[in-house]
Amino acid sequence: MKKKAIEMIPYLKLKKTSRKKDVRYIGVTAVKKVAEEKHFFLEIYKNTKNASTVPVARLVCTQKDFGTYFPERNEWTRQKCETDSYKGGLIWNEKTGERTTSDKLEKQNILYDEKDLERMRDFFKPSRSIWNEGRWWEYVSKHQQSVVSNARMATEKRKNERRRQALKEREQNTLKLPEQELLDMADERYFYHKHFLIYKKKGCFAKIACTKCGGVTDARWKGGESYESQFQRRTQEPVAGKSGTCPLCGAVGEYKCQGKVKSSYAKSIYIFLGQKYKETGMVLRYIQISKEWQIEEICENGGPELFNALEKLSGVEIARGYFEEGKPLQIDFHKHNPYDGKDFWDDCNLYGMNNIKISDAPVLYQTYTEMQGTIFQYSGLKEYVAAVGYVNPISYLERYQQTPQIEILTKLGLVDVVKELVRCRYGIVVSQYANRPDEFLGINKDKAKLLISRKGNIDILNVCKMEKRLEQHWTIDQIEALAEIGASQGNIAQVLELMTIQKVLNLISKYAGCEYGTNCSNAISRLKHVATTYFDYLSMRKQRGYDLRNTVYQRPKDLSVAHKKMTDEINKEQQDKRMQEAAEKYPMIRKNYRSLRNRYFYEDDRFTIRPARSAEEIIQEGRTLHHCVGGDSYLKSHNEKKSIILVMRYKDQQEIPYITVEIQDERIIQWYGAQDKKPDIKDNQKWLDTYIVRLKCKKDGMFEDAAESLLASAAG
Ligand SMILES: [Zn+2]
Repeated sequence: MKKKAIEMIPYLKLKKTSRKKDVRYIGVTAVKKVAEEKHFFLEIYKNTKNASTVPVARLVCTQKDFGTYFPERNEWTRQKCETDSYKGGLIWNEKTGERTTSDKLEKQNILYDEKDLERMRDFFKPSRSIWNEGRWWEYVSKHQQSVVSNARMATEKRKNERRRQALKEREQNTLKLPEQELLDMADERYFYHKHFLIYKKKGCFAKIACTKCGGVTDARWKGGESYESQFQRRTQEPVAGKSGTCPLCGAVGEYKCQGKVKSSYAKSIYIFLGQKYKETGMVLRYIQISKEWQIEEICENGGPELFNALEKLSGVEIARGYFEEGKPLQIDFHKHNPYDGKDFWDDCNLYGMNNIKISDAPVLYQTYTEMQGTIFQYSGLKEYVAAVGYVNPISYLERYQQTPQIEILTKLGLVDVVKELVRCRYGIVVSQYANRPDEFLGINKDKAKLLISRKGNIDILNVCKMEKRLEQHWTIDQIEALAEIGASQGNIAQVLELMTIQKVLNLISKYAGCEYGTNCSNAISRLKHVATTYFDYLSMRKQRGYDLRNTVYQRPKDLSVAHKKMTDEINKEQQDKRMQEAAEKYPMIRKNYRSLRNRYFYEDDRFTIRPARSAEEIIQEGRTLHHCVGGDSYLKSHNEKKSIILVMRYKDQQEIPYITVEIQDERIIQWYGAQDKKPDIKDNQKWLDTYIVRLKCKKDGMFEDAAESLLASAAG
């Protein structure tokens, strides 16, 4: 939009207001040339006398663009003119919040005269039409909509085009892969020129197929006595798994018995090869190389016969990581199009399950020669690979670009620290821009040596960091012992208020009954366990409000007994709390007890059954019998008399929970004894059935003796 030029054009003005009282806004239009381009003007005026010279809004459209100017605010916007098509919101409307019907909207917003509508048709109609010209503003809003989406599509297209170009450019600048060299190298170094001699014995003869030369021979492995036998081809006896020599080409191969071999057998390895890319960049290429050994058989009368054997080396490049100075890492992936059967390179990975994974693998030696003169000349990749073996150099170099200190860390031998960083675990870094390793990692300066001697071990590092944060100075032995027990900083800080670090360590060693630094896995796990128990014990003591300066509390004779006692104390406290809360929350259980007892109480010479007296009793019942009846849903239900919890007990052991019954009117919902089991199920079920019949009779107002006779007849 040529905003300045448009602002220079005087307003069209409203010549006459409308007398219809519904009309709120009137649109006036014009087509004018601005900078040699046709512009459509729509000015919206309020339908009042004093508002006819300056419009509320001026909407301007060209064929490919639009903009709206609000004179009052002196502001341009790219908002579309229909702001809310459901509520009939138009950009010039004052917000009233009322819902306007379509009909009303047409009456409130009109064009000045027929010529204005004609101008609109002329300007917009060639490309779009609207259904109802009463809603004339739709010409404008549809046009605006298409301008916006065309612009979006154009941007998207430009972006895709740029991506495609960049991908092509990368492909063109990537050096050729030394394919044959790679295959030879892989055969030599990873497949050890492995060949197979597949054999089938037949008496003194063996049929042998060689994967190297593909030949099949019959050779005698057992000496014969006949005259002819001395002219027959000889070989040693084939034994599966042993190596032998092919009678035809002399290659050494491993014997495999035919029939035990699948028709093909393959092995794959992965490697990284780094090459110079453009001026100072690098491309790391992730390649899979496979060797396949095959045998071919034909069917003869006596079953499958060896016919041919062969081996095949093949390679496929899976991914490329491109590094350039000042640019983020770009990884391209090799994909296969199943529709046209072609392979192609793409600049993004596949989604979900088919995601192409780049794993740790050896890095080919040529990579380091190629690194000379690139941004990675001093990256320390070579030293890192030497220390770790299989790595993902793409991750390493990406991290190196972000954190160049990795070079020093690697060269100092802090391998485990670098491994963490390569895995993107940056939590261990304290000062990201520091150059000295002790500052970078946040440890005391004198501990750098120790850390280096332990190859950057993360447990040691964590203790060293703790030492610095707690402003301590520990000996090497202390640090190693602390790394062994793996205590957290919170625990150590707490215990340091009571005793020195050496005393803690001695105490733990004494409780565990073993020494530090034995390298014995039993001792290590015992020390760890004891340390956890001890720190746990201390914090429970503290939580219960004991004075830990008292050495009796600090150093209990028997740690596990003391720990158990603390756990019990805390559990009991929590249980009491639960009981109290339940009693407050479900008070009706206690209040209703009398009336419920009248209804449900029964006893004979063996059992007593009655409702639970209180919420506490229900909880206790659930706890003793280890079933779920103490839960809130039962308590709530009983509290509201929706279902009632009854306790059934031996008459002579009335205080000991035995069976819990949930009942609703005269119907048992469920009954259970300990551990959700039904003890003595036959007898108890019968007893409860009888009890229910009694309840029903009682409810129906039957006399006791009538009930008895009914029961007797039911039993008979
Ligand atoms: Zn051979």
